[in-house]
Amino acid sequence: SAVVYWMRMEDMRLSDNRALSQASAQAKLDGLPLIVLFVFSPQDYVAHDRSARRIDFTLRNLRLLKYSLAKLDIPLHTVVHSPRRDIPPYVISFLQSVRATLLFANIEYEVDELRRDIRVCELAKKQGITPTYVHDKLIIEPGVIKSQQGRPYAVYSPFQRQWLTVLNADRDKYLAGLPPPEANPSSIRDHPTYRTLFDSPIPDHIDGFECADRDQMTVTWPAGSDAAREMLRKFLYTKSRSTHVGLSDPLEGGAEPSDKRSRALVYKEQRDKADRDTTSRLSPYLSAGVISARECVRATLDLLGVKNVKADRDSGVGMWVQEIAWRDFYTHVLVAFPRVSMGRPFQEKYADVKWETNQAHLDAWKEGRTGVPIVDAAMRQANTMGWMHNRARMIAAMYLTKDLMLDWRLGEKHFMEQFIDGDLASNNGGWQWSASTGTDPQPYFRIFNPYSQSEKTDPTGDYIRAFVPELRKVFGKDVHCPPPKLADKLGYPRPLVDHKEARVRALRRYKTPGSE
Ligand code: FAD
Repeated sequence: SAVVYWMRMEDMRLSDNRALSQASAQAKLDGLPLIVLFVFSPQDYVAHDRSARRIDFTLRNLRLLKYSLAKLDIPLHTVVHSPRRDIPPYVISFLQSVRATLLFANIEYEVDELRRDIRVCELAKKQGITPTYVHDKLIIEPGVIKSQQGRPYAVYSPFQRQWLTVLNADRDKYLAGLPPPEANPSSIRDHPTYRTLFDSPIPDHIDGFECADRDQMTVTWPAGSDAAREMLRKFLYTKSRSTHVGLSDPLEGGAEPSDKRSRALVYKEQRDKADRDTTSRLSPYLSAGVISARECVRATLDLLGVKNVKADRDSGVGMWVQEIAWRDFYTHVLVAFPRVSMGRPFQEKYADVKWETNQAHLDAWKEGRTGVPIVDAAMRQANTMGWMHNRARMIAAMYLTKDLMLDWRLGEKHFMEQFIDGDLASNNGGWQWSASTGTDPQPYFRIFNPYSQSEKTDPTGDYIRAFVPELRKVFGKDVHCPPPKLADKLGYPRPLVDHKEARVRALRRYKTPGSE
């Protein structure tokens, strides 16, 4: 018999991977071979608006994983399976074909995935197979952080305080590094049941998810845990660079150092600037689990030479760890309030806000032709890089929902379809925050002025100039809000709506959901 680890899209790494580590330890203990299974489910990718870039990133990571596992004589078997409702019986039949008695997997928290896994457990038990599902995605698993009344938090700040207390009280439990799998006996390659598994190829692409800019993505977002670690190391240790975030190789950094301290150390002051390379750019790697969140937090302890995790607002590293806590928070929200993953607002009172129906405006937003330079730069950054700076995401999302008054779910879907780092919980959380329908305690009348936001987030204008070529020669305040005549001359569109008027409309519609 054998032990199977079922790898998912969110745990694409060998070290510090809880289910894999446990599967390997069990296989060793029982003297059984370890086999890795990966199931592509195109129907799920359609249902969850997965981007071709994300699927391609998965394939690129799997190729490296297959190679590393083969060196340990561990086969990685991949299969493309439809329809998705038949994945549970397929997995069971695979387990039977390799005579597995034990199945290990990391939990995926989305509703469809949980339902699928419950079915797998039911079927497995009937066949005498023991399934083990473990928490791995987050630093602290859902359900642990609760208010004094025993309820899940619906606001970030108290969640984060509690998160830090629980984490530091049991640091070894939550941050311990987990060993990579141990090698199988090499004789597995001669075994008639297992040898063919080594030959199953990683597909070139998944039909319907062909990645048109694969070459560019490969340069901008190289696959593999080594690349992720190198990005983390550069973020923590190498000097802050003055280059703007462009299509450069992220591992290259940029031109001249602008600060003696690393990006992590100046993160508090710099992180909201989109015109410089100010953040870690690790989100594609964290979303796909190419690096674990635990490893990221452990690395901050090494950097600071401390034992206790810092997640305060007074230091760059503390602020950065708070972002990792946001990642935990949004998945906790998704688990505690699954309606958010089914297109429902977290704050149900906003379910009836009246949205505009305007395909031309939606298309202009998607293509970066709104006539508001910071929004257009943001959207074009997404279109070219498959990624967007956090502040730019907030500005673009706020503009769609408050200025254009278009339904936040249209934006949520578009981001998932574009981004290489698409994560249901974080994307939904970010959209509902921006649309004021989410967990944020700020009321609906927080409406960004995209022009003043632009001056704060892109003080040099380099971000706009990098992504909006029509404005490449425009400097000073004009780049944030080009005068109409200049815009016409440069072939840059006029704004779709007047911000002041749009603001009044948004306030009215939120104040009385259902009103025109
Ligand atoms: P850093 O600033 O270096 O932060 C480190 C890590 O912390 C990130 O890689 C990410 O894993 C986590 N993080 C940072 N900010 C947030 C946040 N606000 N919420 C949750 N986690 C956070 N993040 C995704 O990973 N996937 C998404 O699909 C996604 N969609 C978003 C949609 C909107 C509308 C908004 C406003 C935010 C969204 N975010 C999403 C959160 C955030 O914008 C990105 O995580 C961040 O920009 C990634 O860049 P970075 O890795 O350089 O971040």
